[in-house]
Amino acid sequence: MRQILITGGAGFIGSHLTRTLLERGDAVSILDNLSTGRLENVDDFIGHERFSFAFDDIRNEQVLDRLASQAHVIVHLAAAVGVELVVERPAETIETNVLGTHLVLEAARRYRCRTLVASTSEVYGKGVRIPFDEEDDLLLGPSSRSRWCYAASKLLDEFLALATYREYELPVTIIRFFNTVGPGQTGRYGMVIPRFVGQALRGEPLTVYGSGMQSRCFCHVADTVEAVLAIIDASDSTAGQIYNVGSTNEISINALAQAVIERSDSASTIKRIPYNEAYGPGFEDMERRVPKVDKIRGAVGWTANRTLEEILDDVIDYERKRLRRPEQRHGR
Ligand code: NAD
Repeated sequence: MRQILITGGAGFIGSHLTRTLLERGDAVSILDNLSTGRLENVDDFIGHERFSFAFDDIRNEQVLDRLASQAHVIVHLAAAVGVELVVERPAETIETNVLGTHLVLEAARRYRCRTLVASTSEVYGKGVRIPFDEEDDLLLGPSSRSRWCYAASKLLDEFLALATYREYELPVTIIRFFNTVGPGQTGRYGMVIPRFVGQALRGEPLTVYGSGMQSRCFCHVADTVEAVLAIIDASDSTAGQIYNVGSTNEISINALAQAVIERSDSASTIKRIPYNEAYGPGFEDMERRVPKVDKIRGAVGWTANRTLEEILDDVIDYERKRLRRPEQRHGR
């Protein structure tokens, strides 16, 4: 039995990962301040003999040290996440992502923990060479636009993780997650699928930001969890490496909105909102974001298998059940 510490374990990806690890017999401790995570994500595990939850900030060094001292593997997911949150609170984003990762890597070094660090497709910035390859040059927007502080902070995390691997031989792997979706993701911070599904189920217009011609590839969180498990289980050959993890099936946001309406049998319409109304003046979005996944396929045999229809059905089912609960009806 291995002890896995998941920072951000009460979040969307973290709670799905926790469930799968417990199911297969590992022990899981999570460290989460519930800033964007939810207690209901981990309700099922409370009382489980192989599960523990530290409700705290990753920047609490004492707590982090204690948890790392007991862990074989650290999966570092805790971060300021979501475009709206990042635009609203850029200083907090940078502090959480950069200082938080620094402290996690220091703790991992003290106890020689195998470590996985979550990065993001946002680091590809305004790149136009599709699909995005891990070795591509990266082109971020100017620092005067807060939106880019998320990508920049995650990129610094990558440099720090790779430097720690090279200088201290800590086995660290970086995962660049592309859009990951599925049941349990909150729509509060601008995540598009839960937002659309919530709007469709409430009969409200689905708000598409910009022209809706921008496209994304959506990966079911169950596929993402399989990628993380494959890397946890892989030999040290994945240490010091960066892997894209995402689906390669591309869909425009307009087509996505239409698919959500159809699969939820909704009477909702689609309403387009200019970016500057949604996020404030000067917001820049990426038109396309498609991962090249040859590297992770070659290393651990992983590819995303689940379809967009499966993703939407799972999210619609989850959100329907949530809406039926009286306390959820008014607060999203
Ligand atoms: P999430 O917001 O659900 O999870 C992040 C978790 O970290 C939350 O539970 C939050 O409460 C916790 N957290 C934030 N700051 C913290 C702090 N200072 N101390 C302790 N806990 C803190 O988001 P997610 O979608 O599960 O993302 C997990 C990771 O994957 C993040 O690092 C994110 O950048 C990365 N990622 C996710 C996606 C995606 O599409 N979901 C895409 C790219 C990258």
